[in-house]
Amino acid sequence: MTRTNHLIELEEKYGAHNYHPIPVVVSRGLGVHVWDVEGWKYLDFLSAYSAVNQGHCHPRIVKALTDQAEKLTLISRAFHNSELGEYEKFMCNIFGYDKILPMNSGAEAVETALKLCRKWGYKKKGIPQNEAIIIFATGNFHGRTLAIISGSTEDSSKNDFGPYLPNIEIVEYGNIEALKKVIQNRNVAGFMIEPIQGEAGIIMPGEAYLKACSELCKEHNVLFIDDEVQTGIGRTGKMLAIDHAGVKPDILVLGKALSGGVLPVSAVLANDDIMLCIQPGEHGSTFGGNPLACAVATEAIKVVLDEKLADNANKMGELFRAELKKLSHPLIKEIRGKGLLNAIEINDAPESKTAWNLCLKFAENGLLAKPTHGNIIRLAPPLVIKEEEILTAVAIIDKSLKTFQA
Ligand code: PLP
Repeated sequence: MTRTNHLIELEEKYGAHNYHPIPVVVSRGLGVHVWDVEGWKYLDFLSAYSAVNQGHCHPRIVKALTDQAEKLTLISRAFHNSELGEYEKFMCNIFGYDKILPMNSGAEAVETALKLCRKWGYKKKGIPQNEAIIIFATGNFHGRTLAIISGSTEDSSKNDFGPYLPNIEIVEYGNIEALKKVIQNRNVAGFMIEPIQGEAGIIMPGEAYLKACSELCKEHNVLFIDDEVQTGIGRTGKMLAIDHAGVKPDILVLGKALSGGVLPVSAVLANDDIMLCIQPGEHGSTFGGNPLACAVATEAIKVVLDEKLADNANKMGELFRAELKKLSHPLIKEIRGKGLLNAIEINDAPESKTAWNLCLKFAENGLLAKPTHGNIIRLAPPLVIKEEEILTAVAIIDKSLKTFQA
């Protein structure tokens, strides 16, 4: 039995079956590349769902991790720590908010944003107790907690996990008229949105829509909550995807690449009139704001800025889509994306195995990617990728496609 098969069998036998991975066992990563336990090298075109924007094991981020790990990893928020204040100042300056609330996973940060929004709704907007409504968009993905899946429209995320959180409204993503109708209700506290839906298959509603959403929210005194857990930190060619629309969200949610894929680090940012609605004892997390996370996240953001990774995402994304569009294989229904958040939509039914089988072929040829929603393959390499690596990836995709009949 190969080492790969042995390790997959262990996961199958002892791990919960809540994932269905591509059968490759990765043991090492550097930059845009990873290696499996058999020694095969791959281009990583998923980047841990955009958590590894800075590339695997970025030496500066790993150094920040190890330096801080030798000093202090965790003290909890029962006391102050030497890294937190500087990190908070740094983040507020970079993103242009008065305050940050640090958490760990993306889902926790989204939950935090929902709680903050409700608090604001009661304390500032004057919504009657227990009547605050939050609007979500169809096709959204904001994580896996009960509150979050209550706003999901995805059966596989929701089924058999009820009862769900009440007071959630759903509007069609990209349809401003739908939002216009629902936002009239005075009990609406917030509108939660991804500027590009990653998990749904790189669905881009356009800048005019996002701008119109933000204006509608302002007009109706509703908080515009921008979930940039997947789209943020340079991924789409700007620090935030919402920057393309020139919109400043009331609440900004960050995660994933905030740590360069080194630790779970997430954050919620807002101005004082919103953030100070939460008082001591009302929300928190043992690990949120820990010194290790502060050191790692500071360095991870500095790397994005110093290495101009958003610009590179922009340039490499343009090149990637242009080269992919030249392939014109009948299995390609559409190539779309922004920066290095891209997708190939496969010309086959979502229930078909075509995209999955194509990803197996990609792996055989040295590129890792995974389908979402059956027939869409997300292609999102680390933002440190270079031109020749983009061309290698396109050659692998081409070679793999050629083994398939439409
Ligand atoms: N929000 C968005 C837009 C995401 O894409 C994700 C994860 O994919 C999350 C939130 C949840 O993040 P986490 O998996 O770290 O909880």
